[in-house]
Amino acid sequence: MGLVVQKYGGSSVADAEGIKRVAKRIVEAKKNGHQVVVVVSAMGDTTDELIDLAEKVSPMPAGREFDMLLTAGERISMALLAMAIKNLGHEAQSFTGSQAGVITDSVHNKARIIDVTPGRIRTALDEGNIAIVAGFQGVSQDKKDITTLGRGGSDTTAVALAAALDAEVCEIYTDVDGVFTADPRVVKKARKIDWISSEDMLELAASGSKVLLHRCVEYARRYDIPIHVRSSFSGLPGTWVSNENPKSQGDQQVEHAIISGVAHDVSEAKITVVGVPDKPGEAAVIFRAIADAEVNIDMIVQNVSAASTGLTDISFTLPKSEGRKAIDALEKSKGAIGFDSLRYDDQIGKISLVGAGMKTNPGVTASFFQALSDAGVNIELISTSEIRISVVTRQDDVPEAVRAVHSAFGLDSDSDEAVVYGGTGR
Ligand code: ADP
Ligand code: ASP
Ligand code: MG
Repeated sequence: MGLVVQKYGGSSVADAEGIKRVAKRIVEAKKNGHQVVVVVSAMGDTTDELIDLAEKVSPMPAGREFDMLLTAGERISMALLAMAIKNLGHEAQSFTGSQAGVITDSVHNKARIIDVTPGRIRTALDEGNIAIVAGFQGVSQDKKDITTLGRGGSDTTAVALAAALDAEVCEIYTDVDGVFTADPRVVKKARKIDWISSEDMLELAASGSKVLLHRCVEYARRYDIPIHVRSSFSGLPGTWVSNENPKSQGDQQVEHAIISGVAHDVSEAKITVVGVPDKPGEAAVIFRAIADAEVNIDMIVQNVSAASTGLTDISFTLPKSEGRKAIDALEKSKGAIGFDSLRYDDQIGKISLVGAGMKTNPGVTASFFQALSDAGVNIELISTSEIRISVVTRQDDVPEAVRAVHSAFGLDSDSDEAVVYGGTGR
């Protein structure tokens, strides 16, 4: 029996009952002979509540103090979980990210893990303990400050520890039975996927399927760690995410679905830089200003310029949470760029269709646009990759658009409705 890393998300440990339920599950794994490392998130919506609180005190809190505040959420759940396990007669020790050896760069609020040195976790395991680690946090290599890994970052903590400890599997326990063909909160007829390639999962995660964080899938793919996404509320097997389909043996290929799923994202906003001179170097100045403010952008479009004015508009999407920073950065560079005005729109949504099979099926794009048209949804921006098509629409149109696309591609389940066991969907 090897080592397993289990990660429990906030909805799985939302209250005392949840913590006790999860503790029992962890003890079962230990009784089955595994060495168990648990990564835990903050209880329920604690992180959102801490963010709201910070914003009441200061509209733009300093990164260092903001991280110090947010990591408190995971400290509460790790200690309570260790207590609940001890109460069941088993040994457990809790560790902060820093104590667990999660070393990051020093970009506050979205730090990257650069090394994992889990010496204390190994010792705790060797002494017969269950090790409980606070997710979503680390310590910066240079300044030794506490950092956080970005929203949903406990998934990354779990995979990074699984890689460093050479775990058999990284189990991600959440409030749905696995990865579905669409968010079960939006599409009741979404179907559970038994296995999905890391490649497709990476695209789904990058397109807003928050069941797994993009960085966590990236990490797992690089270190070849199999992930098992499953519910902490049911005993059902979930979804395996790995580089190779475990059912393919030797030359025998298991047929790939053309489309893996539909993702949506309502966490982005759109900025339009209006009246930009249509000459070489303008985009470079705009996006340098954005990059220097450490804002990540997603889609970009530049309109054809009106010949009479020689001016064009450039639009791009970015996380809503970074809107203020981006606008400030652009305003500061107004002289160098020379635009007329800025437009900020946070009522947008993105819908993406993902599947490696679309590379070789030319009809996919046309059917996607047809489904949106039949649902009366207007498209504002389009972007594509080899295995994904995304569109930006009005935010209000997103649920209907997701359901329409899901049906049009024959993804609707004809049997059970997808179950959502907990969480608020926040
Ligand atoms: P946790 O608190 O366990 O980290 P999250 O809220 O981060 O949970 O992720 C689980 C949620 O992800 C589900 O409740 C579901 O609403 C959402 N979700 C979005 N897309 C999908 C998908 N394709 N399959 C399953 N869940 C999805
Ligand atoms: N508690 C953090 C968040 O809500 C990290 C996580 O849950 O993964 O984003
Ligand atoms: Mg999550």
